[in-house]
Amino acid sequence: MILVDVHAHLDHERFKNDLDEVIERAKQAGVKAIITSGVNSATNRLILKIAEKYDIVKASFGLYPIDALAKELELTSGFVRDIKEIDVDSELEWIKENKDKCIAIGECGLDYHWITGKEKEQQMIFQKVIDTVEKINKPIIVHSRKAELDAVEMLESSKLKKIVMHCFSAKKSLIKRAADNGWSFSVPPIITRLQHFQTLVEIVNINQLLTETDAPYLSPFPGERNESAFVAETIKKIAEIKRMTEEDVAGNIYMNYTNVFL
Ligand SMILES: [Zn+2]
Repeated sequence: MILVDVHAHLDHERFKNDLDEVIERAKQAGVKAIITSGVNSATNRLILKIAEKYDIVKASFGLYPIDALAKELELTSGFVRDIKEIDVDSELEWIKENKDKCIAIGECGLDYHWITGKEKEQQMIFQKVIDTVEKINKPIIVHSRKAELDAVEMLESSKLKKIVMHCFSAKKSLIKRAADNGWSFSVPPIITRLQHFQTLVEIVNINQLLTETDAPYLSPFPGERNESAFVAETIKKIAEIKRMTEEDVAGNIYMNYTNVFL
């Protein structure tokens, strides 16, 4: 089977000691491409190095709302990742200069779950990202937690066509609306445990579905670190829901990947 993971965080410290093995296991499982996403200046440079080292890894430069607002931020409790402040304008300049080294832009978007009371500021930053992506003409990988409607409306007002909604947790009508726009949806392996993503797969046409891991997060196996080889779990679940063979699902999703990213 030919597999693809369109969103992972391979720079994460939980991969520091065994990334070679993680990549090897992905290859053994049939993974032909892993898109690893930065979230701030530091991780954008790290993922570029990782993409240069491993042939199946592609870089996606990101600008995460939490890092972009780091200076003025009060996070809701529970957020665990290390936050690195970003100078938004100079990072977007760097992204423009290095556009030929990346396959996409993201992770970027809006997050009203971890950040409260800074909606306007987040939207201003996301708009700057959208403007940049319009200029460099790349696919965009969008995070939109508890901010799905605002994210959809901002993207609808843009000229962007190659839009991937990552881990999209909107209600059915908004999933339909985004799907009618022709956008793609990347589904994590935690679909085996979360009804919401199963519903999304029911609603969205197979030609608009992609597989991702968000590794090390969102593992299909409770308490375990997620990794790219586990996209096979997502394929299994999609095959069940769509009543297709796993081979057909995998082949379709790989074709979707080439249509959006290559
Ligand atoms: Zn992510």
